[in-house]
Amino acid sequence: MDAKEFREFGKAAVDFVADYLENIRDHEVLPSVEPGYLLDLLPKDMPEEPEHWTEVLSDINRVIKPGITHWQSPNMHGYYPTSTSYPSIVGEMLASGFGIIGFSWICSPACTELEVVVMDWLAKFLKLPEHFQHASDGPGGGVIQGSASEAVLVAVLAAREQAVISCKETHPELSESEVRGKLIAYSSDQSNSCIEKAGVLAAMPIKLLPADDDLILRGNTLRKAIEDDVAAGLIPVICIATLGTTGTCAYDDIDSLADVCQALNVWLHVDAAYAGGGFALEECTELRRGLDRVDSLNFNLHKFMLVNFDCSAMWLKDANKVVDSFNVDRIYLKHKHEGQSQIPDFRHWQIPLGRRFRALKVWITFRTLGAEGLRSHVRKHIALAQQFEAFVRNDSRFEMVAPQALGLVCFRPRGDNEHTAQLLQRLMERKKIYMVKAEHAGRQFLRFAVCGMDAKPSDIEFAWTEIETQLTALLAEKSLAARKPSNVSELTQHFQMHLASDSGTHEKSQ
Ligand code: PLP
Repeated sequence: MDAKEFREFGKAAVDFVADYLENIRDHEVLPSVEPGYLLDLLPKDMPEEPEHWTEVLSDINRVIKPGITHWQSPNMHGYYPTSTSYPSIVGEMLASGFGIIGFSWICSPACTELEVVVMDWLAKFLKLPEHFQHASDGPGGGVIQGSASEAVLVAVLAAREQAVISCKETHPELSESEVRGKLIAYSSDQSNSCIEKAGVLAAMPIKLLPADDDLILRGNTLRKAIEDDVAAGLIPVICIATLGTTGTCAYDDIDSLADVCQALNVWLHVDAAYAGGGFALEECTELRRGLDRVDSLNFNLHKFMLVNFDCSAMWLKDANKVVDSFNVDRIYLKHKHEGQSQIPDFRHWQIPLGRRFRALKVWITFRTLGAEGLRSHVRKHIALAQQFEAFVRNDSRFEMVAPQALGLVCFRPRGDNEHTAQLLQRLMERKKIYMVKAEHAGRQFLRFAVCGMDAKPSDIEFAWTEIETQLTALLAEKSLAARKPSNVSELTQHFQMHLASDSGTHEKSQ
């Protein structure tokens, strides 16, 4: 493909994306394909001769689009938002155009320095403690990781290495493997699966401590666990707290956890993958309480800052602790400016060697939306969640499960877990909206997350109408099934229902 053809293909692709995003409400949020659909549609080998891009683009419409789950749709309410934006898409394209791998300053000075700039912009925008900025006097700073999972793993690995170093000094009688065998980490039973996975990858058990009834992990629970473990000869390393748990967006009590961690020399990391967006708002000041005492934290720009996946901001109070833990050198990686504090070699702050030019899409997004644009995006999600909560509270057939938090509402139809599961199953089969369930203390509930690039009050009304009419239909079916048919038309309805459910079972068993 030459530059001329690239211009044509690229312009057509931009039109394709703009048409897709502009008309995203036309698609059912969930695709109607069965497993293996694409494997059957595509040839088993790549084409021997080149094909024209127009054929490829038309195949994207024909075979790829039908298999897409429309994450940018305002009818997506599962998980947490993963909002893209037009400026961010352009940033991604430009970064691909440069095609750089910016693992150290010399590999593309703009890549490193732009990252330093945007991470400091973001730290100020989120009102984080000053010591997290590169521009501060201390050893703190921010870096862009691919995902929250990577950020957490980096924190866990760095904390582990620091603990090993300090323990070898205080306990010279122990061998390194004896020290490593005693390490232990902590989080709450409400934390994201990536925390437990980080423990597996770091070969260090992570204890998932029971959150209190309000789903918050507090210092007293952590203190008790650490005291018991120390008495049993273990070495506490790190506590990973969450601001905005995946299940209900609960906020762990950072202040009381920091009291314990500081007193017992344990690294405190905060996973604010979603809720970090709230730090930017005056009305959410409470959320930031205690952050001045944490060692590291992460926030996904790809969740709440209109920067497309992948883009996870991570800040460290003392970046040297990470750099010292991960610093592995080769002669071919050296350059004459290395070691200067203004120009970190970010390869030491992360797991891979190579790194993407993610700062470009962040910079373009921040500049074209402005701080106020980003704040109003977060505020809009909160307002839409409040709108949905009002619908729930206004309908006595439903109950709230946890307080509405940022753009998330956790609710359930009154009744047993099966009732919740049946309602969700109906909704998923109709594919108009997408939600997932979660469970706490044996009770299943539905999570309604405000998502999409440009959700509107009418989208929330659409979702609520879908949910409540499906509950009405479910209840009607159940009451009909429970009642003995008393006349001819009820008898017919009764048998129709049985026939329909039989044929459903039959289809599924095929
Ligand atoms: N932490 C929390 C609180 C999350 O909600 C999620 C995902 O939703 C993650 C971590 C994992 O994020 P990532 O996919 O960026 O690793």
